[in-house]
Amino acid sequence: MDLEFDLSASFRTSADASAARDTLESLFNDAENLLSKGAPEGQGARIAHWNVEEDRINLQILSGRYVRAHDAVLRLRKKIAPELGKKFHVGIRGIEVHSFTIKIPSEADLKEIKIPFVTNMEYKDGSILLTLDVTESEIEKRIPDRILTLIEDKIAALTYGGKAEHWNLLWQSEEKKQPFKLDPTQEMMKRGWIKRGASRGQWIHGPQSTRLFRAFEKIVVEELLEPLGYREMMFPKLIPWEVWKKSGHAKGVYPEIYYVCPPKTRDPEYWEEISDYYKVTHEVPVSRIKEKIGDPIGGMCYAQCPPFWVFLQGETIANDQFPIKVFDRSGTSHRYESGGIHGMERVDEFHRIEILWTGTPEQVTKASNQLQEKYKHIFNNILDLEWRMAWVTPWFMAQEGLAGVSQQNDVGTIDYEAPLPYRGKDGEWLEFQNVSVNGNKYPSGFNVKCQSGEELWSGCSGVGLERWASVFLAQKGLDPEGWPEEFRKIVGEIPEGFSFL
Ligand code: ATP
Ligand code: ZN
Ligand code: MG
Ligand code: MG
Ligand code: MG
Repeated sequence: MDLEFDLSASFRTSADASAARDTLESLFNDAENLLSKGAPEGQGARIAHWNVEEDRINLQILSGRYVRAHDAVLRLRKKIAPELGKKFHVGIRGIEVHSFTIKIPSEADLKEIKIPFVTNMEYKDGSILLTLDVTESEIEKRIPDRILTLIEDKIAALTYGGKAEHWNLLWQSEEKKQPFKLDPTQEMMKRGWIKRGASRGQWIHGPQSTRLFRAFEKIVVEELLEPLGYREMMFPKLIPWEVWKKSGHAKGVYPEIYYVCPPKTRDPEYWEEISDYYKVTHEVPVSRIKEKIGDPIGGMCYAQCPPFWVFLQGETIANDQFPIKVFDRSGTSHRYESGGIHGMERVDEFHRIEILWTGTPEQVTKASNQLQEKYKHIFNNILDLEWRMAWVTPWFMAQEGLAGVSQQNDVGTIDYEAPLPYRGKDGEWLEFQNVSVNGNKYPSGFNVKCQSGEELWSGCSGVGLERWASVFLAQKGLDPEGWPEEFRKIVGEIPEGFSFL
């Protein structure tokens, strides 16, 4: 069984259309071609019933997946409107939808959800029956198609729901002896390298761990970014909805966003009662503040690359500019992570170098391979880590709430993972960075074109400094004597911290 659309609607006419009945009859009888254009043999839409009732032409249209009932009604309007106008001086004022249902085969029911324009959702005899409340305007905006896609995605998710992300090992280093068995976050706290920040999942780094982070950055810059010709830029860190709509994040990151609301006005008088309240009570009147701020305009940086694309948005770029290779390390990223106290490896505020490149598919794949080579050198020869690479669900699919992998070869994400010895032999490995080839997703989302007209692809790689530190310290400990010689040369002396009485 396949999809079934059942639409009852009327064309509202500017005058009584009874006189046109015979003309309509022959038009509708001849509509088979029109309603099956683009569909496989015998799978077009059909008019199950019609009549004229003064200034209404009533229709019931049934269809399957191909020429959908709501498309069929638009095709019919286009066909009959000129005839009615020419012969009868009757215009079509609009389409009224009386009832619209879509039957979607599914092996199981979906949990109850609220979907705009869906008034009822019912599971019966192996199908989900949706009742839609839409008008002409929604039909023209193709909203029924989006509802169908949404439901089909949810049905598909039932089969992989609960399963972990896709994961496929690509490369693994040899096993290493791991004599250090302590949790580095705990050790860093004991030694006064870090303290918890006042906000959730936030750390304050003392001079010691700051030196370590800067050493990691130096490695990335000198071993990888400079030799491969990446140029530093500074991307914005407050991301409006407009950007997340184009990057696809608007489809799924809501549970993890730190939302940003601006004040309704910056007039000090408007805010005076808030300051006064605080001065008198020493309490911040949060609920009153809520009334004085606007709707969220977006959120704090979640993934670093989306705001970069506004720089290229709408541009056509000369061929000789490609591949474009840039990076950003100008600020923090923020995610509302799952509850519970985590160490430095999972934080709500983190530091990441985001590396980003765009060009032809060949250029983009090549840049990804070059980065992979450099990373391998860094992790094997400078940091001396135990680690592995795995082909996983592309981050952009994960962040849209999807599982699986891209249909396109070469498009996808490589996660870099490492064991944390304090978690024990079977402990979960930590994702400490990734390298992704994102296909045409961003250039197409942000309408960026290449002079030659060739398709543009892009890639990105997020180097999480907290993650690098977590892996390195978990495997090597906090004493520089235990660190690889190559790394010690780069990091130099770890500065003294502060002591408290
Ligand atoms: P995880 O699976 O651990 O939640 P993720 O897949 O959500 O990570 P990405 O969206 O792929 O993370 O972000 C790219 C990189 O950013 C990660 O590989 C990691 O280095 C870093 N990162 C992401 N979330 C955090 C976090 N909460 N704390 C520290 N670093 C993070
Ligand atoms: Zn990115
Ligand atoms: Mg995550
Ligand atoms: Mg990831
Ligand atoms: Mg992940």
